[in-house]
Amino acid sequence: MSQISLTFPDGAKRAVPAGTTGLDVAKSISSSLAKRTVAMSLDGKLADLAAPIKADAAIKFLTRDGAEVLDLIRHDAAHVMAEAVQALYPGTQVTIGPVIENGFYYDFARDEPFTPEDLPKIEAKMREIIARDQPFACEVVSREKAKRVFKDKGEIFKLELIDAIPEGEDVKLYSQGEWLDLCRGPHMTSTGKVGNGFKLTKIAGAYWRGDPSRPMLQRIYGTAWASEDDLKAYLHQLEEAEKRDHRRLGREMDLFHFQEEAPGAVFWHAKGWALFTALIGYMRRRQNAWGYVEVNSPDMMERTLWEQSGHWEKFGDHMYVTETPDERVYACKPMNCPGHVQIFKHGLKSYRDLPLRIAEFGKVHRYEPSGALHGLLRVRHFTQDDAHIFCTEDQITEECVKLNEQMLSIYRDFGFTDVRIKFSDRPEKRVGADAVWDKAEAALKRAVEAAGLEYELNPGEGAFYGPKLEYVLRDAIGRDWQCGTIQVDLNLPGRLGAFYIAPDGEKTVPVMIHRAMFGSLERFTGILIEHYAGHLPLWLAPVQAVLATIVSDADDYAGQVLAALQDAELRAEADLRNEKINYKVREHSLAKVPVLLVVGRREVEESKVSVRRLGSEKQEVMTLDAAVQMLAEEAVPPDLR
Ligand SMILES: [Zn+2]
Ligand SMILES: [Zn+2]
Repeated sequence: MSQISLTFPDGAKRAVPAGTTGLDVAKSISSSLAKRTVAMSLDGKLADLAAPIKADAAIKFLTRDGAEVLDLIRHDAAHVMAEAVQALYPGTQVTIGPVIENGFYYDFARDEPFTPEDLPKIEAKMREIIARDQPFACEVVSREKAKRVFKDKGEIFKLELIDAIPEGEDVKLYSQGEWLDLCRGPHMTSTGKVGNGFKLTKIAGAYWRGDPSRPMLQRIYGTAWASEDDLKAYLHQLEEAEKRDHRRLGREMDLFHFQEEAPGAVFWHAKGWALFTALIGYMRRRQNAWGYVEVNSPDMMERTLWEQSGHWEKFGDHMYVTETPDERVYACKPMNCPGHVQIFKHGLKSYRDLPLRIAEFGKVHRYEPSGALHGLLRVRHFTQDDAHIFCTEDQITEECVKLNEQMLSIYRDFGFTDVRIKFSDRPEKRVGADAVWDKAEAALKRAVEAAGLEYELNPGEGAFYGPKLEYVLRDAIGRDWQCGTIQVDLNLPGRLGAFYIAPDGEKTVPVMIHRAMFGSLERFTGILIEHYAGHLPLWLAPVQAVLATIVSDADDYAGQVLAALQDAELRAEADLRNEKINYKVREHSLAKVPVLLVVGRREVEESKVSVRRLGSEKQEVMTLDAAVQMLAEEAVPPDLR
């Protein structure tokens, strides 16, 4: 029998007969290793531990607590759930059950609807199956046999799945005791390895194969983790996320709304717009200090220009297009870049004009399927803090190093200190010479290394026109949000005919760096609301202080207090209603007003105010002057301190 060579993570090599299983290898090392191991990876690809190893490979034994195994736990849990459902509800057909982020689902065909009360029953049955700890056994069968197996069981959906398996691919059945499923695998060694860290979370409808003309199935979602503690932490995060949902907070704080006639478009109310413009004001000051010029480019431009830029072909499905009575076709801009190139091209540019940093708070329009829309986090019409830096190849590095510092400084000002960077380099299909790619990639690498940051490399994931950095912010409850991007573009300026005059007098195509820091202002606003759970820092709060009277005798004095606050440029309102003070406090707390200034008879007599902070029971009595000065200082944006 032919020998193959296995390489272990420590570099050790061993020759074994071809066809030896991972389990055999593990056992030959130690029985405790064999017991601990739930799966293996061969050249980085997960495989059943019991699978025969056919060729030379780098082998790694995986235990239950390894990060690579989490998806196996979830996948195995889906099989266990399917068995539990069929045991409890005979006649139910199984269809598909993939792993998703944080968990899994399985789609079932059953006439009667599942109800939330079914979930604990199914969970209990799953625990029985897990306790039975049957091995997952894989059998490769012929298509005919697979079809016969499922036909005999009355599983018509599986027949269609078998037909869809590409010719030449193995058809595999995975059994766990009596129950079996059609599956590509791999699986862990037995059902017991699923453990206790799972929970079924919800029921939803889903069409077979996502096709509305096919039968409606019932989808049961679950989440699964390596341990009960991990599960608890995740459920806690969900609960926290629910409390922080920006859609609810947006309503309670009276910031914005959506309505059916304008899907994916925000109706900003006065308070929401105050927050939005505070963000723009902040970014504008910073950009000015960093040597940007701010411009504004047309919302609609003719089809010919989008064809030239490549958007018509590559991005057409996402574009809003309109035809005017003079029979010209226009598209709403899905990106600001082509407009900025037109501005660059207007008037002859020399190398002395570079780097030219052009910024715009540009509103872009991108059609997204309605199912993908989600509050402010995913809209169809949004404002980018967009900028394009036109520079020479030699300037790429310096510009990227600066951009990286600026990015991190911006995020710090909004309370994001845990920032991860993803670096995507050249894809197989690309434009531009390799030498320029070398330069562009090295520039981005230097930018992150100069900041002493670790980055995750996504090999081959760059855009076809250049490499990119993506900035991922971790919020207060541990969720990750991708916000800023830096992309070096070796394509578009040339495509749109941009050039500058180099020192040697030659017309030379500039490099274009695309960058956005907030990304989408709408989305960033949503992220901020959730990050702060509505308790925005004073400089961002739409209403910074409300002045609330206890008695109507205080109304005149309240007028003075309000004027003093507004003179200090604080966004303040007065609440003179004839309501109990506790009622007023509750209402303004719900609206997340950070500071309440309470005035009653005593405050009037002494020219003082009682200061109450959001979320605190304490009141601090201060002179009016002291209170105004304190709040005015606190309301200074971080870049002006
Ligand atoms: Zn499976
Ligand atoms: Zn761009």
